[in-house]
Amino acid sequence: MAEECIFCKISRGEMDTDFIHEDEQCVVFNDINPKAKTHLLIVSKRHLPSLADAKDSDADLLSHMLLVAGKIAKDKELKGYRVQIHTGKEGGQEIFHIHYHLMSPF
Ligand code: 5GP
Ligand code: ZN
Repeated sequence: MAEECIFCKISRGEMDTDFIHEDEQCVVFNDINPKAKTHLLIVSKRHLPSLADAKDSDADLLSHMLLVAGKIAKDKELKGYRVQIHTGKEGGQEIFHIHYHLMSPF
């Protein structure tokens, strides 16, 4: 657990963030600096730094977050969308707390 981690703080509800979705494993909210008309972040409640740190025991969390992305896209009736996981500094990752980007031009 990283106490100073911004996504830990947000997912604990300490930053007054509007959640589009919340369940026992993850939260979803708007990216502060959107790069698409729809740009949401699916963020785990548990602190896992990146996909590169994932273990077999994280399979349920990771697949759950992917299914949440798909359900939200369906709820929002997005005609098409992308899900991205920036991994490692060289992969463009800035926040080392695992999250999926859900982006769509719709
Ligand atoms: P990544 O680590 O996947 O490259 O990017 C992190 C993403 O989180 C960026 O798109 C950035 O705009 C977003 N972000 C960073 N800090 C905050 C924050 O405090 N609130 C929100 N809503 N988004 C953030
Ligand atoms: Zn964290």
